[in-house]
Amino acid sequence: MSARTLTSVVGGERVDGSEDRPDINPSDVTDVVAVASMADASTAAQAVEAAAGAFPAWAGTTPWERSAVLDRAGTEVIARADELGDLLAREEGKTYPEARAEVVRAGQILKYFAGVALQPHGLALDSVRPGIEVTVVREPVGVVSVITPWNFPIAIPAWKIAPALAFGNTVVFKPADLVPASAWELVDIINRAGLPAGALNLVLGRGSVVGPVLTTAPGVDAITFTGSVPTGRGILADTVSTGAKVQLELGGKNPLVVTDRADLAVAVECAMQGGFGSTGQRCTASSIVVATRGVHDAFVEAMTARMSAWQVGDARGAGVDMGPVVDPGQLGVDLDYIEIARGAGAEVIGGHRVEGVGDGHYLAPALAVGTRVGDRINAEEVFGPVVSVIEVDDYAAALEAANASTMNLSAGICTTSLAEAAHFRRHSKAGMVMVNLPTAGVDFHVPFGGRGESSHGPREQGTAAVEFFTSSKTTYTAPGSPSVA
Ligand code: NAD
Repeated sequence: MSARTLTSVVGGERVDGSEDRPDINPSDVTDVVAVASMADASTAAQAVEAAAGAFPAWAGTTPWERSAVLDRAGTEVIARADELGDLLAREEGKTYPEARAEVVRAGQILKYFAGVALQPHGLALDSVRPGIEVTVVREPVGVVSVITPWNFPIAIPAWKIAPALAFGNTVVFKPADLVPASAWELVDIINRAGLPAGALNLVLGRGSVVGPVLTTAPGVDAITFTGSVPTGRGILADTVSTGAKVQLELGGKNPLVVTDRADLAVAVECAMQGGFGSTGQRCTASSIVVATRGVHDAFVEAMTARMSAWQVGDARGAGVDMGPVVDPGQLGVDLDYIEIARGAGAEVIGGHRVEGVGDGHYLAPALAVGTRVGDRINAEEVFGPVVSVIEVDDYAAALEAANASTMNLSAGICTTSLAEAAHFRRHSKAGMVMVNLPTAGVDFHVPFGGRGESSHGPREQGTAAVEFFTSSKTTYTAPGSPSVA
């Protein structure tokens, strides 16, 4: 059976592209999940125009109407979690349980923002001057470009599109090239839930081709981007002259501190799940373990044992702990960094190609032991199942090593000492801090985001979303102003 063709969706209509791109299953490269018809720059421009045309009407809907659309969409996403989870695992390569959980989360996010649409976001207060009334209202920003990476193909788009629509904005959405099918299904579901044509447009196209239109076209009022630091930085530079609002969530280099006071079993589980969950392809992955001297050797020994039992295989296979790397390019990056760590003197446990489990990009989890702060493996994002270990003297040195990261998205500590945990929560430089938990794994109803190179602009998700997806307006009314006739 030939794979189905996915197109862009502009103003409610499917639009063919100028080039076909196969959507390949990384667990089995002979399996073509779909074919994406890739848009050119003119389709991207039409999508921006369609979103601009739909904006006044959508911005004028009641919160109840917007809430109802998002709630219906969330219900369908959750109802189809088995099928969409299978699709996501097939096209991205995270395990089916991980993929299904991501789908459910996307549905929950849609429902959460259905609720947010109905909440009060304004203020009415007395002026500091006698008799004057002040109001602060939150208005939609306008047309929002949503640009997303491949590693959370449905949850990240949901946590950007849902608040954008909830607050009355219209959207042009460009997913990553590697995951068009999950994106297409999400857009289809939200559109069928009752959105007017043009309020949510999908552009399947290469970042280098359609990206500049979606970031610099005059009709674009805001850009919410998740992806790598270099791409994000480029967008920031390009938008200086347009003045569009920009929100960037970028790479992470996330330390997990394991102290002498840690519960070893908890620490190993945090490092395994945080480092190798979703094949280590998470911005919040626990990519560095900083272990104090008294626990270091026991930690490495326990990790080695746990890693040898870690099942690598087809993302949709039963009992599989870790699916394949997403594509040959990322696999090459992972293998390069393993050699870079070795070249700097590390002993690398695991990190070999896994044979005999299928025609996919399989890599065993890698633990690089004997690395130092400042080594490339500890300074640059790998974005694969590669965890490095830094041994330090004590907690104070561990905190210093953890704070050496420049991509301060998430940081964690494993300890049974309340004093260490409290100190770390207070003094970590990261935007999110986890105690006795992996650095990955976050809630959708609270702010999400990093510090340093990892983030730019207002936080995403939860109570923070209102900052980016609305523009505040403050009004002053003089005493005795005429009332409406
Ligand atoms: P990427 O930067 O290569 O691509 C991200 C998106 O940008 C894709 O849709 C891509 O097509 C698009 N793009 C490429 N060039 C563009 C351009 N010139 N203009 C506009 N858009 C363009 O990132 P990726 O490889 O898809 O994802 C991996 C990266 O994402 C990692 O660095 C990871 O840490 C990061 N990430 C961050 C978070 C977070 O919340 N901080 C979450 C997930 C992933």
